[in-house]
Amino acid sequence: MKDSSLLENPGGEKKILLHCCCAPCSGSIIRSMIDQGLDVTVFFYNPNIYPRAEYEHRKSEVVRYVQKARVPFVDADYDDDRWLEMTRGHEEESERGPRCSLCFEMRLRRTAAYAAKEGFRVFTTSLGISRWKDLEQVTRAGKRAAGLFPGTVYWEHNWRLQGGTEQMERIAREENFYRQRYCGCLYSLRESIKRSLSKLSDVQRTS
Ligand code: SF4
Repeated sequence: MKDSSLLENPGGEKKILLHCCCAPCSGSIIRSMIDQGLDVTVFFYNPNIYPRAEYEHRKSEVVRYVQKARVPFVDADYDDDRWLEMTRGHEEESERGPRCSLCFEMRLRRTAAYAAKEGFRVFTTSLGISRWKDLEQVTRAGKRAAGLFPGTVYWEHNWRLQGGTEQMERIAREENFYRQRYCGCLYSLRESIKRSLSKLSDVQRTS
């Protein structure tokens, strides 16, 4: 069990806006914040997720958890057209490349804008807890977003440490969260399908 007393929220700020990418990644972070007595609000802005049914499914899992935890939830837009427009020309890039920087920045910019408008000084994200993500890339996007909205601070914290990864896995199991098999966008879905087909043909070749 993570010792949530080890969290160091910037300036001791209690009111936190947490951008959530999905339930498995956010469960542990929400739990830790509650345990520390922080006043957390969950912000769901993920227009990268494709297709729409997948987006709704991931969102409903977050809603299920925040309702149980009695945490306020903000449902931001699904402006997927804007996301597709913004990532045009980056369709063939691999994960952790420039397209992912654009994707993180778009989501965290919207989070910072909401924080500034609604009086949250501190915001952060669940994006960096996954070992599949480049934490430095997420942190750069968060700091850049905060820089655009004076008065906001990006809480850069490695949520994987101090038992965070283990707690994330335990809560995901206990809550029986839906576990997606790709990061979120159309291009990551395509890569995931390619990987599965390649594994299948390997199995067929060796059997
Ligand atoms: S792979 Fe993930 S982080 Fe990268 S662009 Fe797609 S959805 Fe965004």
